[in-house]
Amino acid sequence: MWLKSYLSFGPDRPIWASFADALFALRVPCSERNVDPDIRQNIFLQTWNTYTNNMQTPDLKILTDTAKKFGLRIEGMAFSRSIIRQMPIWYHKEADSIIRTLNHTQASQCLKKNHAVRTVGDTETLANMLQNDQHTMENNCNCECCTHLRTNPHCEHPHSCMKQALKLINTLPPKWDPRSILPEDYQKKPQRTDPDWIPFDARITTNGSLADVFRIFTDSSVIPINTLPDLRRQVPENADTGNIIVATDGSCYNNGEDNARAGAGIYVSPDHQMNRSAKLPLYIGQSNQNGEIVAAKLAAELAD
Ligand SMILES: [Zn+2]
Ligand SMILES: [Zn+2]
Ligand SMILES: [Zn+2]
Repeated sequence: MWLKSYLSFGPDRPIWASFADALFALRVPCSERNVDPDIRQNIFLQTWNTYTNNMQTPDLKILTDTAKKFGLRIEGMAFSRSIIRQMPIWYHKEADSIIRTLNHTQASQCLKKNHAVRTVGDTETLANMLQNDQHTMENNCNCECCTHLRTNPHCEHPHSCMKQALKLINTLPPKWDPRSILPEDYQKKPQRTDPDWIPFDARITTNGSLADVFRIFTDSSVIPINTLPDLRRQVPENADTGNIIVATDGSCYNNGEDNARAGAGIYVSPDHQMNRSAKLPLYIGQSNQNGEIVAAKLAAELAD
């Protein structure tokens, strides 16, 4: 429960959780000293390490131990663009490891200090400015964006910073890249048209906040994949809806007697290739009910 409230990133996040973050960021092994303290946001969302041994504050060690014990990690088939944009960009947990080499250039220092870039969303906004028609791809450009960046965050080389922002988001795999076509873009909530039927909701996107990207009891031997599943249905425009109405029936001679013989029938339309009649094999109990079930099963298999 402790870990759960620590990992809730919404407005309800307890104050102690922010202290925990600050302490985690303070208690880092020597190998992590070059990680800019300003961007040490969260050890579960980023790849920098904190002490997990006795060098750590005992109460915080309970947190990391619990996380380890229960196999806590980021996992999910797809995430909403809103969640993707909230992820920290620096040391992004799911980015290509090359992102760790992009921390200390002049442009990156400017992104951190002047532009206050922290999240994937911040980075994306800056990278998108490269697509502004008026932008001249030079640091002395006077387009609206560049003028703004030069005055407000006091950036002396807006073009270099935009390019660096683009480099940073280019390290994100498709599942974590806000520019990807995500399942949420094409998977819509199924419409309930018939009050007697509940349509299957096949949407796979994890919504909510960053707290919702975590799973426990994960299998450490399975590495999560960061490609996106393509669930767009490849249905030609003029194809029929895939719906078919089939009449099925079961029958039985001498139902209930030792010499009972059951059969099944399927009918779609005159001379339809799915029309069938079948005798039930003798290893299936010969009854009217079994005839009905076999007919329905056969119809489902043929229609598939
Ligand atoms: Zn410009
Ligand atoms: Zn800059
Ligand atoms: Zn019947």
